[in-house]
Amino acid sequence: MEFVQFHPTALYLKNAPRFLLSEALRGEGAYLRNIELKRFMPKYHELAELAPRDVVARAIAHELELVKRPDAAVYLDLTHLHADRVRKRFPTIYSTCMEYNIDIATELVPIRPAAHYAMGGVRTDLRGQTSLPGLYAAGEVACTGVHGANRLASNSLLEGLVYGARAAQNMREHLRPRRDHATVAGAENTAASTNGQPAQVEAFIKKVQSLMWQYVGVVRDGKGLRQVVSELSELQKQQPASGDRRSHEAANILQAGLLIARSALAREESRGAHYRLDFPLKNDVKFHKHSVVSGDKIRFE
Ligand SMILES: Cc1cc2nc3c(=O)[nH]c(=O)nc-3n(C[C@H](O)[C@H](O)[C@H](O)COP(=O)(O)OP(=O)(O)OC[C@H]3O[C@@H](n4cnc5c(N)ncnc54)[C@H](O)[C@@H]3O)c2cc1C
Repeated sequence: MEFVQFHPTALYLKNAPRFLLSEALRGEGAYLRNIELKRFMPKYHELAELAPRDVVARAIAHELELVKRPDAAVYLDLTHLHADRVRKRFPTIYSTCMEYNIDIATELVPIRPAAHYAMGGVRTDLRGQTSLPGLYAAGEVACTGVHGANRLASNSLLEGLVYGARAAQNMREHLRPRRDHATVAGAENTAASTNGQPAQVEAFIKKVQSLMWQYVGVVRDGKGLRQVVSELSELQKQQPASGDRRSHEAANILQAGLLIARSALAREESRGAHYRLDFPLKNDVKFHKHSVVSGDKIRFE
């Protein structure tokens, strides 16, 4: 669960969605510039802007940290490239940014890293079966064990399409059709009802998100992780009374956050998408393994 990939370059504008700006932009020659408009990647990696995704995300996080302003951004700069070529080569990115009055061919684009993919998840076999009889998982929510500590582009295709089909096939072979329509209708009613207090639930979710971003983001350390595990555990006690769909989601978000934070605390090394300032090196002897959370325990196997 500790392996969460951050995309280095998501559009960062007030009131705009965190639209991902493809890494192909850097492949095409785009530079990254800090708040002083200086290129910074050459000092972090010999490949500069073409360094691996997690290296770039960490470099950006470090530059943002130096600024010490919560709303700081760095910039993607394509202005030295041929403008017409940029517009033709990246039509969707161009038109989406134009909706927010940024012409990527002639202007700097403010960006920050954004959470992109959860490599861990519910443990399954290669046919989508979890440890709970009758429960199947496939897609980003699952952890089939075929990937390592980082992900490459388009493994969602494998996870969603291949394992989705396998899980479906497996279910067809093993499950008998249910005739209990009353239960399903009851579940729908529960999902549609709203007996929670929306503002309180939204504030709760925001709090969890902000704690996760602050302590379990691109760069982590033991002190921050211990603090966030304790704060999230405290929050668990104040969870809004469940009942409606959003309250259930809030509880699930907190649960997933806590699992990620606990796993990140247990893995005292840096590997793939998990980077610890206090353990910056890989430790194959202890941690070249999957982490498995089960109740209060985390084991590496
Ligand atoms: C901005 C962004 C860009 C990406 N770009 C790429 C890319 O270029 N290439 C690539 O390979 N991958 C990419 N990914 C990753 C990829 O999109 C996801 O891994 C993939 O879509 C996951 O598919 P999924 O079906 O497993 O999950 P999802 O698409 O998240 O579907 C899960 C569904 O379950 C529903 N759901 C959740 N909880 C409940 C509940 N309690 N009851 C009922 N329904 C529920 C949700 O509403 C949702 O519809 C990107 C991800 C992001 C965020």
